[in-house]
Amino acid sequence: MQVTGRKPAVAIDGPAGAGKSTVARQVSKDLGYIYIDTGAMYRAITVKALRLGYNLSDEAKLTELAENTEIKLAYKDHTQVIYMDGEDVSAEIRLPLVSQNVSLVAKVPGVRIEMVKIQRDLAIEGGVIMDGRDIGTYVLPNAECKIFLTASTSERAKRRAKDLEAAGIEVDLIQLEKEIITRDEIDSTRKMAPLIKAEDAILIDSSNLSFDEVVETIKECITQKCGG
Ligand code: C5P
Repeated sequence: MQVTGRKPAVAIDGPAGAGKSTVARQVSKDLGYIYIDTGAMYRAITVKALRLGYNLSDEAKLTELAENTEIKLAYKDHTQVIYMDGEDVSAEIRLPLVSQNVSLVAKVPGVRIEMVKIQRDLAIEGGVIMDGRDIGTYVLPNAECKIFLTASTSERAKRRAKDLEAAGIEVDLIQLEKEIITRDEIDSTRKMAPLIKAEDAILIDSSNLSFDEVVETIKECITQKCGG
Protein backbone atom coordinates (compact mmCIF):
# COMPACT_ATOMS: atom_id res chain seq x y z
CA MET A 1 0.00 0.00 0.00
CA GLN A 2 1.28 3.45 -0.86
CA VAL A 3 1.38 5.94 1.99
CA THR A 4 0.78 9.50 0.80
CA GLY A 5 2.64 12.36 2.48
CA ARG A 6 -0.21 14.85 2.58
CA LYS A 7 0.82 18.04 4.30
CA PRO A 8 -1.41 19.32 7.11
CA ALA A 9 -4.16 21.89 6.71
CA VAL A 10 -4.56 24.75 9.16
CA ALA A 11 -7.90 26.51 9.73
CA ILE A 12 -7.96 30.01 11.18
CA ASP A 13 -11.43 31.34 11.92
CA GLY A 14 -12.69 34.33 13.84
CA PRO A 15 -14.69 37.54 13.65
CA ALA A 16 -13.98 40.54 11.41
CA GLY A 17 -10.76 42.41 12.04
CA ALA A 18 -9.24 39.88 14.46
CA GLY A 19 -6.05 39.98 12.40
CA LYS A 20 -6.50 36.54 10.81
CA SER A 21 -5.18 37.48 7.40
CA THR A 22 -2.03 39.30 8.53
CA VAL A 23 -0.99 36.53 10.91
CA ALA A 24 -1.98 33.75 8.51
CA ARG A 25 0.11 35.38 5.77
CA GLN A 26 3.15 35.59 8.07
CA VAL A 27 2.79 32.03 9.38
CA SER A 28 2.37 30.64 5.87
CA LYS A 29 5.48 32.51 4.73
CA ASP A 30 7.52 31.24 7.71
CA LEU A 31 6.36 27.63 7.38
CA GLY A 32 6.11 27.40 3.59
CA TYR A 33 2.34 26.87 3.46
CA ILE A 34 -0.07 28.34 0.91
CA TYR A 35 -2.25 31.05 2.41
CA ILE A 36 -5.90 31.12 1.32
CA ASP A 37 -8.06 34.09 2.30
CA THR A 38 -11.62 32.82 1.79
CA GLY A 39 -13.24 36.14 2.71
CA ALA A 40 -11.80 37.54 -0.52
CA MET A 41 -13.99 35.12 -2.50
CA TYR A 42 -17.23 36.28 -0.88
CA ARG A 43 -16.04 39.85 -1.37
CA ALA A 44 -15.41 39.26 -5.10
CA ILE A 45 -18.96 37.94 -5.60
CA THR A 46 -20.21 41.00 -3.69
CA VAL A 47 -18.25 43.31 -6.03
CA LYS A 48 -19.98 41.74 -9.00
CA ALA A 49 -23.44 41.88 -7.39
CA LEU A 50 -22.96 45.55 -6.51
CA ARG A 51 -21.72 46.43 -9.98
CA LEU A 52 -24.79 44.77 -11.48
CA GLY A 53 -27.06 46.58 -9.01
CA TYR A 54 -28.55 43.35 -7.66
CA ASN A 55 -30.98 43.32 -4.78
CA LEU A 56 -28.86 41.62 -2.09
CA SER A 57 -31.85 39.90 -0.54
CA ASP A 58 -32.60 38.05 -3.79
CA GLU A 59 -31.08 34.68 -2.92
CA ALA A 60 -31.96 33.02 -6.22
CA LYS A 61 -30.21 35.73 -8.25
CA LEU A 62 -27.15 35.72 -6.01
CA THR A 63 -26.92 31.93 -6.26
CA GLU A 64 -27.11 32.11 -10.05
CA LEU A 65 -24.47 34.83 -10.01
CA ALA A 66 -22.09 32.71 -7.91
CA GLU A 67 -22.66 29.71 -10.18
CA ASN A 68 -21.74 31.80 -13.21
CA THR A 69 -18.72 33.63 -11.86
CA GLU A 70 -15.16 32.42 -12.20
CA ILE A 71 -13.13 33.02 -9.04
CA LYS A 72 -9.39 32.35 -9.23
CA LEU A 73 -6.55 32.94 -6.81
CA ALA A 74 -2.91 33.62 -7.62
CA TYR A 75 0.07 34.55 -5.47
CA LYS A 76 2.64 37.34 -5.72
CA ASP A 77 5.22 37.39 -2.87
CA HIS A 78 2.95 35.40 -0.56
CA THR A 79 0.18 37.91 -1.17
CA GLN A 80 -3.05 36.58 -2.61
CA VAL A 81 -4.37 38.14 -5.80
CA ILE A 82 -8.00 37.45 -6.63
CA TYR A 83 -9.48 37.35 -10.11
CA MET A 84 -13.20 37.64 -10.75
CA ASP A 85 -14.03 36.56 -14.32
CA GLY A 86 -10.39 37.15 -15.21
CA GLU A 87 -10.21 40.65 -13.70
CA ASP A 88 -7.93 41.45 -10.76
CA VAL A 89 -10.32 42.80 -8.09
CA SER A 90 -7.86 42.58 -5.15
CA ALA A 91 -8.13 46.30 -4.38
CA GLU A 92 -11.83 46.73 -5.07
CA ILE A 93 -12.86 43.94 -2.66
CA ARG A 94 -11.47 46.01 0.25
CA LEU A 95 -13.67 49.06 -0.39
CA PRO A 96 -15.98 50.01 2.53
CA LEU A 97 -19.10 49.48 0.39
CA VAL A 98 -18.05 45.87 -0.15
CA SER A 99 -17.33 45.33 3.58
CA GLN A 100 -20.74 46.77 4.42
CA ASN A 101 -22.55 44.35 2.11
CA VAL A 102 -20.51 41.16 1.96
CA SER A 103 -22.26 39.39 4.86
CA LEU A 104 -25.59 39.64 3.06
CA VAL A 105 -24.12 37.85 0.06
CA ALA A 106 -22.18 35.33 2.18
CA LYS A 107 -25.25 34.21 4.07
CA VAL A 108 -26.87 32.86 0.89
CA PRO A 109 -26.49 29.04 0.92
CA GLY A 110 -26.15 28.81 -2.87
CA VAL A 111 -23.26 31.30 -2.81
CA ARG A 112 -21.56 29.38 0.00
CA ILE A 113 -21.90 26.05 -1.81
CA GLU A 114 -20.03 27.46 -4.83
CA MET A 115 -17.27 29.09 -2.75
CA VAL A 116 -16.77 26.03 -0.54
CA LYS A 117 -16.26 23.84 -3.65
CA ILE A 118 -13.36 26.08 -4.70
CA GLN A 119 -11.95 26.19 -1.17
CA ARG A 120 -11.98 22.41 -0.72
CA ASP A 121 -10.34 21.93 -4.12
CA LEU A 122 -7.56 24.33 -3.13
CA ALA A 123 -6.95 22.40 0.10
CA ILE A 124 -6.95 18.96 -1.45
CA GLU A 125 -3.17 18.60 -1.39
CA GLY A 126 -2.86 20.00 2.15
CA GLY A 127 -0.11 22.45 3.05
CA VAL A 128 -2.57 25.31 3.35
CA ILE A 129 -3.45 27.89 5.94
CA MET A 130 -7.02 28.91 5.24
CA ASP A 131 -8.72 31.77 7.02
CA GLY A 132 -12.42 32.52 7.21
CA ARG A 133 -15.46 31.99 9.41
CA ASP A 134 -16.40 28.33 8.88
CA ILE A 135 -13.14 26.67 7.90
CA GLY A 136 -12.72 24.53 11.02
CA THR A 137 -16.42 23.73 11.36
CA TYR A 138 -17.52 23.24 7.76
CA VAL A 139 -15.00 23.68 4.94
CA LEU A 140 -12.17 21.59 6.40
CA PRO A 141 -13.60 19.80 9.45
CA ASN A 142 -10.62 17.41 9.39
CA ALA A 143 -7.99 20.18 9.40
CA GLU A 144 -5.08 19.04 11.55
CA CYS A 145 -4.84 22.37 13.34
CA LYS A 146 -7.69 24.74 14.12
CA ILE A 147 -7.38 28.21 15.59
CA PHE A 148 -10.15 30.60 16.58
CA LEU A 149 -8.63 34.07 16.66
CA THR A 150 -10.53 36.87 18.31
CA ALA A 151 -10.04 40.26 20.00
CA SER A 152 -12.27 42.87 21.62
CA THR A 153 -14.54 44.80 19.25
CA SER A 154 -12.78 48.11 19.90
CA GLU A 155 -9.37 46.58 19.27
CA ARG A 156 -10.60 45.01 16.04
CA ALA A 157 -12.08 48.31 14.86
CA LYS A 158 -8.80 50.11 15.59
CA ARG A 159 -6.82 47.52 13.60
CA ARG A 160 -9.20 47.68 10.64
CA ALA A 161 -8.99 51.48 10.69
CA LYS A 162 -5.19 51.30 10.58
CA ASP A 163 -5.28 48.90 7.60
CA LEU A 164 -7.78 51.06 5.71
CA GLU A 165 -5.85 54.25 6.43
CA ALA A 166 -2.69 52.57 5.15
CA ALA A 167 -4.60 51.83 1.94
CA GLY A 168 -5.56 55.52 1.68
CA ILE A 169 -9.19 55.00 2.73
CA GLU A 170 -10.56 57.49 5.30
CA VAL A 171 -12.53 55.96 8.16
CA ASP A 172 -14.74 56.93 11.05
CA LEU A 173 -13.77 54.65 13.97
CA ILE A 174 -17.20 54.62 15.64
CA GLN A 175 -18.92 53.84 12.35
CA LEU A 176 -16.36 51.12 11.63
CA GLU A 177 -16.97 49.51 15.04
CA LYS A 178 -20.73 49.51 14.37
CA GLU A 179 -20.17 47.87 10.98
CA ILE A 180 -17.98 45.19 12.51
CA ILE A 181 -20.64 44.41 15.13
CA THR A 182 -23.35 44.20 12.43
CA ARG A 183 -21.19 41.97 10.23
CA ASP A 184 -20.36 39.61 13.12
CA GLU A 185 -24.04 39.43 14.01
CA ILE A 186 -25.07 38.44 10.46
CA ASP A 187 -22.14 36.00 10.16
CA SER A 188 -22.89 34.34 13.53
CA THR A 189 -26.63 33.98 13.09
CA ARG A 190 -26.93 32.81 9.47
CA LYS A 191 -28.40 29.36 8.88
CA MET A 192 -25.61 27.80 6.87
CA ALA A 193 -22.13 27.44 8.39
CA PRO A 194 -22.28 30.37 10.83
CA LEU A 195 -19.26 31.93 12.50
CA ILE A 196 -18.62 29.76 15.54
CA LYS A 197 -15.56 28.29 17.22
CA ALA A 198 -15.04 24.63 16.31
CA GLU A 199 -15.05 22.46 19.43
CA ASP A 200 -11.51 21.34 18.75
CA ALA A 201 -10.16 24.81 17.85
CA ILE A 202 -7.65 26.59 20.04
CA LEU A 203 -8.95 29.97 21.18
CA ILE A 204 -6.52 32.88 20.93
CA ASP A 205 -7.64 36.30 22.18
CA SER A 206 -5.20 38.70 20.60
CA SER A 207 -6.50 41.87 22.33
CA ASN A 208 -3.41 42.12 24.47
CA LEU A 209 -0.94 40.22 22.31
CA SER A 210 1.51 41.71 19.85
CA PHE A 211 1.52 40.58 16.22
CA ASP A 212 4.70 38.55 16.83
CA GLU A 213 3.20 36.88 19.88
CA VAL A 214 0.13 35.78 17.91
CA VAL A 215 2.30 34.48 15.07
CA GLU A 216 4.49 32.52 17.53
CA THR A 217 1.46 31.09 19.37
CA ILE A 218 -0.03 29.84 16.11
CA LYS A 219 3.28 28.39 14.94
CA GLU A 220 3.69 26.54 18.25
CA CYS A 221 0.18 25.18 17.91
CA ILE A 222 0.90 23.96 14.38
CA THR A 223 4.15 22.34 15.51
CA GLN A 224 2.43 20.60 18.41
CA LYS A 225 -0.56 19.41 16.45
CA CYS A 226 1.07 18.68 13.13
CA GLY A 227 4.58 17.82 14.20
CA GLY A 228 6.25 20.81 12.53
O1 C5P B 1 -12.43 37.82 6.21
P1 C5P B 1 -13.19 38.98 5.63
O2 C5P B 1 -13.49 40.05 6.62
O3 C5P B 1 -12.59 39.52 4.38
O4 C5P B 1 -14.58 38.34 5.22
C1 C5P B 1 -15.59 39.09 4.63
C2 C5P B 1 -16.93 38.42 4.85
O5 C5P B 1 -17.01 37.23 4.07
C3 C5P B 1 -17.26 37.99 6.27
O6 C5P B 1 -17.78 39.03 7.07
C4 C5P B 1 -18.30 36.91 6.02
O7 C5P B 1 -19.58 37.47 5.78
C5 C5P B 1 -17.82 36.28 4.73
N1 C5P B 1 -17.05 35.05 4.95
C6 C5P B 1 -17.75 33.91 5.20
N2 C5P B 1 -17.09 32.72 5.30
C7 C5P B 1 -15.76 32.67 5.19
C8 C5P B 1 -15.02 33.84 4.96
C9 C5P B 1 -15.69 35.04 4.88
O8 C5P B 1 -18.97 33.93 5.31
N3 C5P B 1 -15.15 31.48 5.25
